[in-house]
Amino acid sequence: VKRHYFFVLPILCCVGAAAQSGKVDFYTAADLASREKALGLKLDASTGSAGSTLEKYPHHLTMFILREKSGQSEMHAKVADVFIAVDGSAELWTGGKMLQSKTTEPNEERGEGLEGGTKVSLEKGDIVHIAAGVPHQLRIAPGGHFAYFVVKSQEIN
Ligand SMILES: [Zn+2]
Repeated sequence: VKRHYFFVLPILCCVGAAAQSGKVDFYTAADLASREKALGLKLDASTGSAGSTLEKYPHHLTMFILREKSGQSEMHAKVADVFIAVDGSAELWTGGKMLQSKTTEPNEERGEGLEGGTKVSLEKGDIVHIAAGVPHQLRIAPGGHFAYFVVKSQEIN
């Protein structure tokens, strides 16, 4: 029996500096797991988080973030957040009042927490959309961690 072996060489495509229209960005579960591992090595000791912007597009951008400590409360006047839970778990608190709120840049507020508000629990596979103007905070249980993919989308109207 004569056998033919075909070797398919991976084609490495050119990586552009900026996202190009018509381009498709695909993140496999394995890719996200290795990104999470890399972020784990870069955790900021004081914030207990690390993250990176993946791509920027005309009206939105994507990020991947790992947290081992609760975040600040935040409010984006013109930007909606979509979180896709990739690993671990967190409580997402929304609404209520931002405590010690400061304007950090135009249309952006950060605070030390939220008073009141409502909670949802986020686990791997959960997705949440937070409309612009809604105060929110991710809280991580002691010893816990939460890795999530983020789409930050400019509200158009
Ligand atoms: Zn946010």
